[in-house]
Amino acid sequence: MYKSLILAILLLISCFEASCSITTGSRSLLRAVNTNAQDHTNFAIDLNSTSFDAVLKDTPATFAIVEFFAHWCPACRNYKPQYEKVAKLFNGANAVHPGLILMVRVDCAEKINSNLCDKFSVDHYPLLLWGPPSQFVSGSWEPKKENSKIISIDDGRTADRLLKWINKQMGSSYSLDDGKYENEHVLSNLSDPGQIARAVYDIEEATSMAFNLILEHKMIKSKTRASFIEFLQLIVAHHPSRRCRKGSANILVNFDDLCPSDILSGKKQECMTSGPITLSNSHICGSEVPRGYYMFCRGSNNETRGFSCGLWVLLHSLSVRIEDGESQMAFSATCKFIHNFFICEECRQHFYEMCSSVSNPFNSTRDYALWLWTAHNNVNSRLMKEEASQGTGDPKFPKMMWPPKQLCPSCYLQSPQSDAENQIDWDQNEVFKFLASYYGNTLVKLYKDKELLGEAGSDKAVIDDLATSTNALVPLGAALAIALASCAFGALACFWRSKQKNRKQRRSWS
Ligand SMILES: Cc1cc2nc3c(=O)[nH]c(=O)nc-3n(C[C@H](O)[C@H](O)[C@H](O)COP(=O)(O)OP(=O)(O)OC[C@H]3O[C@@H](n4cnc5c(N)ncnc54)[C@H](O)[C@@H]3O)c2cc1C
Repeated sequence: MYKSLILAILLLISCFEASCSITTGSRSLLRAVNTNAQDHTNFAIDLNSTSFDAVLKDTPATFAIVEFFAHWCPACRNYKPQYEKVAKLFNGANAVHPGLILMVRVDCAEKINSNLCDKFSVDHYPLLLWGPPSQFVSGSWEPKKENSKIISIDDGRTADRLLKWINKQMGSSYSLDDGKYENEHVLSNLSDPGQIARAVYDIEEATSMAFNLILEHKMIKSKTRASFIEFLQLIVAHHPSRRCRKGSANILVNFDDLCPSDILSGKKQECMTSGPITLSNSHICGSEVPRGYYMFCRGSNNETRGFSCGLWVLLHSLSVRIEDGESQMAFSATCKFIHNFFICEECRQHFYEMCSSVSNPFNSTRDYALWLWTAHNNVNSRLMKEEASQGTGDPKFPKMMWPPKQLCPSCYLQSPQSDAENQIDWDQNEVFKFLASYYGNTLVKLYKDKELLGEAGSDKAVIDDLATSTNALVPLGAALAIALASCAFGALACFWRSKQKNRKQRRSWS
């Protein structure tokens, strides 16, 4: 009698704990579980029927594992540390192999989750299902259904066996002992054009990080406000991620309230940072970003690549998306943005010099994209020497004249005698074609490629969310949706501009 009373109390407490950790956004979820000191650290994310679709839709991971369990089931409680050992490798900003597999769990003993567990035919605990995250979104599973992209993990009873199953599935050789960056399977992006597909998430990360740094360092001042707005206009229309186009449009439309110019020109020299709606609580790429890690731009140690790589990729992806008539505006907005807001003194200085040396206005996408490519190669050329003499570069990603021949053979008219840029005879038409395809549709489209990401078929949720704007080649339906979205953002931008028309004149880059 006493025993069952104590059991019931314990059950209530554990139910309470479980429900406490369930919130709606995946980032807040990650934080909630990761800071649960009592339970050491939880790496697998607790989801319920309200958060399930949103988190699985949002994740950059290629695969997801969902554990369906019941908190009262002793086998599930015993299994938790095993599942956690594997989740630690893949989940969260400090994961050893981030962004590949999202590991979550759903407590089927919670009433709120009954329908969800029914849809996935949960008939025993724990049940582990594996598949592309998008397949779980509004999805279902039946044990005997043929050709299902979701499969049941039949041998995951211990951490070792679960990881062995994953390795077999992915053709990988991950180990529970892997440390961050050691035994790292960082692939060189030298010759695999498909790698750029993952960079869309890095562009989101870098955009969000740039925005946060600008706010943190109070860089929007009366002198820099206009250039911030110009860059915002550029990304509202042409950012490759819809999430960021939407977030930046929201900020742009409300910018006058969030950062009134009279505040800046008056006594107070920075945008409002307190009050119910502020720039600091606006999310430029949605509340789930930054995630805390890079994928395409991940260095082979903590010190290298990351943000600045993501920023370059953002700039190149914008350069191939603009229309001819926008090329001068894009050039000017980018130059001013880097000059005013890139928190690397040497970088902004060098970039400023390259911007200042341009004498004629740009009038085509091609010219601007090729100028940016050359500017980036100039930086590469300088850093190649610096990094070689100081040993500061990333050993797995040495600087080079880009694109290397393996990536774009037709970009080379003749074989380079050495890596020096002035000895490469570029076919600039081919280089532009390559840039437009690499930073345009390939950046997003290869999510569909089952070979590259190991998925069978397209990842529609990801494609929908990351649909490219303007110049990139996309299917007709997607193009229509993008056009509509772009029109909406354009209308918002026009509305904002009309509010601004009597305000300060835009200064042109000189
Ligand atoms: C605007 C800007 C200016 C910078 N200036 C300096 C500086 O003066 N001094 C300094 O120490 N660091 C500078 N940096 C940082 C530096 O350029 C690198 O970003 C950093 O060293 C990380 O290098 P990475 O190996 O990740 O490749 P990155 O140079 O960051 O390149 C990212 C990716 O872009 C692709 N890429 C490479 N070259 C080109 C190209 N020519 N055209 C198109 N795509 C290309 C490759 O896939 C590469 O992996 C600057 C960064 C930016 C964004």
